[in-house]
Amino acid sequence: MSGLNFAQQEAVNYLHGPCLVLAGAGSGKTRVITMKIGRLIQTGLAPKSIAAITFTNKAASEMRERAQHLIGKQAKDVAVCTFHALGVRLMREDGAVLGLKPQFSILDANDVVGIIKDAAGGTTDAATARIWQWTISKWKNMGLSSAEALAVAADDNERIIAKVMERYEERLTAYQSVDFDDLIGMPLRLLRDHPEVREKWQKTLNHVLVDEYQDTNATQYELLKLLVGERGRFTAVGDDDQSIYGWRGATLDNLKKLPVDYATLKVIKLEQNYRSTSAILRAANNVIQPNPKLYPKTLFSELGEGEPVRVVDADSEEHEAERAVARIQSLRETSQHKEWRSFAVLYRANHMAKPFEKALRRANIPYKVSGGTGFFDRAEIRDLCSWLRLWVNNDDDPAFLRAITTPKRGIGHTTLGKLGEYSSSYKLSLFAALFSSSLAALMPERAMAQLLEFGRYINDLEYRARRTIGAEDSKAFLLEWLKEIGYEQHLLDSEDSEKVGAARWGNVLDFIDWMSQRSGGVIDDASGANIPSPTKSLLEVVQTVSLLSTISEREKDQDVVTLSTLHASKGLEWPHVMLIGVNEGLLPFKLEDDNGRQKVVSAETTQRLEEERRLMYVGITRAQRTLAVSWTKRRKKGREMVAAMPSRFIAEMGLDKTTAKEDPREKLRALRAEFAKRAEASASAAKSQA
Ligand code: ATP
Ligand code: MG
Repeated sequence: MSGLNFAQQEAVNYLHGPCLVLAGAGSGKTRVITMKIGRLIQTGLAPKSIAAITFTNKAASEMRERAQHLIGKQAKDVAVCTFHALGVRLMREDGAVLGLKPQFSILDANDVVGIIKDAAGGTTDAATARIWQWTISKWKNMGLSSAEALAVAADDNERIIAKVMERYEERLTAYQSVDFDDLIGMPLRLLRDHPEVREKWQKTLNHVLVDEYQDTNATQYELLKLLVGERGRFTAVGDDDQSIYGWRGATLDNLKKLPVDYATLKVIKLEQNYRSTSAILRAANNVIQPNPKLYPKTLFSELGEGEPVRVVDADSEEHEAERAVARIQSLRETSQHKEWRSFAVLYRANHMAKPFEKALRRANIPYKVSGGTGFFDRAEIRDLCSWLRLWVNNDDDPAFLRAITTPKRGIGHTTLGKLGEYSSSYKLSLFAALFSSSLAALMPERAMAQLLEFGRYINDLEYRARRTIGAEDSKAFLLEWLKEIGYEQHLLDSEDSEKVGAARWGNVLDFIDWMSQRSGGVIDDASGANIPSPTKSLLEVVQTVSLLSTISEREKDQDVVTLSTLHASKGLEWPHVMLIGVNEGLLPFKLEDDNGRQKVVSAETTQRLEEERRLMYVGITRAQRTLAVSWTKRRKKGREMVAAMPSRFIAEMGLDKTTAKEDPREKLRALRAEFAKRAEASASAAKSQA
């Protein structure tokens, strides 16, 4: 119990009923969850019967580590994961009740867009398909079936989308695949409609803990309710001021409903912030102040006043990046924090990282971009990895589905649906099923021929890869294969803009280079150094491909500056934080129309503004020791530079204007001059002594 204040201890010790910890940023909510896992185990609960739900995989791995540190090996058996990962577990174990085989595939956003395009009869472009995906996802998050969606559709356009949704869902069933929303929706149906499954899980899980509760959506609420049953043994922690996923269906109703649905709910508030200095906390409290309050809250810090929050204005994005880099360098020289990992640069939208990456590279400062997509997460690389995985493991069904449909080879969903049914009734992988003789009786001749052709092609690739050795041959072979499947054309066709298609093809070529180098007896280790190793066959290289996606996870221990979106920074903390691009139109994000006129203030825009304000609050409260907020006087708009305004949130921070401005480059120059002087003085002192 050491390292917890009284209110935190109360939350940790409240074991047998529903408990809600409602408190502002940095007040130790996540710490409560971690400690409570330990406490529950201490009281004799089996680690297996505890589930702790976090918002991201990254947060889950951090919490798992912290819990292990606290209670040792036992922590490994606690299910520390996201709602989605818990959903996967439920469905792997009991999805058969819903007609799903245990090795069902999980589709990513790009797969989904492809299937939606296909379900719409190929009449839509990718951009429209993405918008439709959005609507379908919204409906699914509201727990609606396609028939129900059709009933609530607001206009003709929505009715069309609801019809597409119906065909989309049919395809998913046929492919034995689920999308991201299904990972919540299907377990919900599973528990709701099947009492025996529900009882099993309520017995299995004795206590459920939920972090970042303010960002759960309606289906997650229902899922939690079914999981904990009437006993209601759960601990939810959250902060209504940090709810930033309303646009994705998260709802504060989940906070309001708790005391109604659980009469014995214990509500605990935490008031001390252990993260930030008073100066930073004051700016945060000021910014969030105009928002309506769900629960009154006060936060204080005992870490002292600290450095004033800085406002930096820059002429352009490049200039802004330069100043940020100068600030990092100068803080590194003057503060106690000598590690790059003490610094974070946070922004509203992914694309804003570009100039900062450039400036950091130029200054030789190591960094990572989180919250964006890593190289191995890119759709084109995942496409290729699916093919490669299939060469190595023919029974990898998700890889099979992705490869056989990317690029399209005229094998439609009806054929794949039949193959899926056949394979699950005979408990075969899709690949094995396609070679079994009784399948032919169920399939039209042409479809059967196409399937066999694909199967033989995979076997052929495997054979050729086994015999390909050395960088040059590997590269030639990989390029030949891409040509055979028409991958470059596929990329160009699937993107609305040729430029994007070409850029994605560029990534493919990088990947091919990297793969063939490994076959040529050179592997690059994490540090980027090239280490010679014995030459390998291409197939051996491919066999390690499934490990590749774990490479990006290693990044977390590296001593690097973090570049992150505000959304992805939730729950994290750094000694020194810079919020950049704090301009009207970016943060708050576009509240005006394309002509720059303020949109009519409606309930919706007010709500959006409030969510943007919470986003600013999240950003400010990531900082422990220093915070700088920067904006640019001009920004690029297309090819032009246009005048830009500081965000209203800067004024709302209520800083003292006389002390807040600074030019870090000047400070750095002065510092360097000072250091040079001192070095000279000590050198001459040493000389005279000698
Ligand atoms: P957020 O709302 O941003 O998710 P949080 O409420 O989850 O924040 P934590 O991340 O748990 O807050 O804690 C913030 C910081 O304060 C962490 O560095 C944590 O280790 C520290 N901390 C929490 N409680 C205490 C305590 N009682 N004594 C000392 N330090 C604490
Ligand atoms: Mg937290």
